[in-house]
Amino acid sequence: MKTCDVAVIGAGPAGLVAATTATSLGLSATVFDESASPGGQIYRAVTTTPVRRPELLGVDYWHGANLVRPFRASGAEYLPATTVWAAARGAEAFDLGVSGGRPGTRIGGTFAARTLLVATGAIERPLPFPGWTLPGVMTAGAVQGLLKSSALVPAGRVVLAGSGPLLWQVAWQLASAGVAIDRVLETIPRGRLAEAMRHAPGFMFSTYLARGLELIRAVRRRTDVVEHVAELQARGDGRVESVRFAVDGEWTEVPADLVVISHGVVPNVHLPAALGCGLEWNPDQSAFQPVADAWGGTTEEGVYVAGDVAGIAGAQAAEARGRLAALAIANALGRIDAARRDALAAPAQRALATALRGRRFLDALYRPSPEFLRPRGAVPVCRCEEVTADAAREAVRDGAVTLHALKSATRCGMGPCQGRSCLATAAELLADELGADCAALAPPSIRFPLRPVTLAEVAAWPSRADAEACVVRGE
Ligand SMILES: Cc1cc2nc3c(=O)[nH]c(=O)nc-3n(C[C@H](O)[C@H](O)[C@H](O)COP(=O)(O)OP(=O)(O)OC[C@H]3O[C@@H](n4cnc5c(N)ncnc54)[C@H](O)[C@@H]3O)c2cc1C
Repeated sequence: MKTCDVAVIGAGPAGLVAATTATSLGLSATVFDESASPGGQIYRAVTTTPVRRPELLGVDYWHGANLVRPFRASGAEYLPATTVWAAARGAEAFDLGVSGGRPGTRIGGTFAARTLLVATGAIERPLPFPGWTLPGVMTAGAVQGLLKSSALVPAGRVVLAGSGPLLWQVAWQLASAGVAIDRVLETIPRGRLAEAMRHAPGFMFSTYLARGLELIRAVRRRTDVVEHVAELQARGDGRVESVRFAVDGEWTEVPADLVVISHGVVPNVHLPAALGCGLEWNPDQSAFQPVADAWGGTTEEGVYVAGDVAGIAGAQAAEARGRLAALAIANALGRIDAARRDALAAPAQRALATALRGRRFLDALYRPSPEFLRPRGAVPVCRCEEVTADAAREAVRDGAVTLHALKSATRCGMGPCQGRSCLATAAELLADELGADCAALAPPSIRFPLRPVTLAEVAAWPSRADAEACVVRGE
């Protein structure tokens, strides 16, 4: 089996720039990505989209082609439509369990890499509310993915709900594509803007201000925006038929065929967590993120993180962090000395500082309210295993006082998504019941496989003495 210098997991802006930088320094790089074409979330399908009117997706979207071109010319090996479902440190290199591949070119088995660069990006924050699992309720990212990949837009009565840049971005893209949005229900609580204003100076000098205002104004011109929505319910018999929402205790119900929800995104930490990398709670973003240094180096030697997986910071920061991590890897593998690394890093460090300006304002403004973060009642929290908010809360009261114990007691996070959907909510409910801060919780223990795989794939995974000992001990 050949061993590459660096395996890059994820072909979003961070992974693309990292692989291009690594190969330019003489390293061999293999890039694995679940998507069928490069670009990650923001630049999804940028080279293949059937959308013919560039203005529908916005200028930021087309910037992705500027990253794909040098990546394609870089000589990095690129394996699209492949999922990395396991990774472990072997005697001389990391082993990666990989499955997928394009139709007709199925890829499976084990790959080896001297270092790992995890650039798995973000996932949408699912905030459970009554009716959120009804057919006809979709996340903004899913709706946007259909637009970018297949030029599909929704028909019927469309209501958007939630808060954050992705909500406005998708509202703007849908409106530009001719979708008549019935209403946008914004869930920022009263008084939050005033709280966020303490971070306003950075925001005023950031790239977000002009772009954000432009999007919001354009959407407001075309649709009704209801502010300070404190409670939401999707209702219907077998599929969504209406949305109920409360502002200052007063309920309104509007008919809807599609409810598009967005409460921002959280780091997709499952791969670094399962690799044993330390995690920490980011209170500003209400989410776990890997503990990492300024180069993306984690607590596990040879494992680096770059892009939104390292903490939500947007696409421009992802590019800069991808370059910094690749430079650190080239230095760690002896390709460049520390002086050359530092010299090459200076422009990326400046770009990162610019990209981070204004983030704290966005984090403070768009942090979901406790009512959404910490649901109650029969609302399903873990939709794979059908665990409700009340069942999770009761388990904590019965003694499941860690995320691990909560998982064992209720199966919350044990389904096919392996907790990607419910981890942040489980942490909030646990902390709420304990009267503790999420930062005080022991991070979750995540185990491979990260995705459902076949028994044949598991059987092909290299056997290790330490893993066998765990089985013998019954762990
Ligand atoms: C659904 C969604 C839509 C978004 N849309 C926008 C937008 O329109 N505008 C904007 O400014 N920001 C958007 N964002 C935020 C945006 O993702 C980031 O700021 C930016 O794309 C982060 O870049 P990245 O390289 O860190 O990760 P990403 O661009 O997220 O790329 C990560 C890649 O890793 C892949 N991956 C994850 N796990 C594995 C695995 N185990 N094996 C193989 N591959 C894996 C993913 O499929 C993905 O292609 C969106 C986020 C999400 C979650």
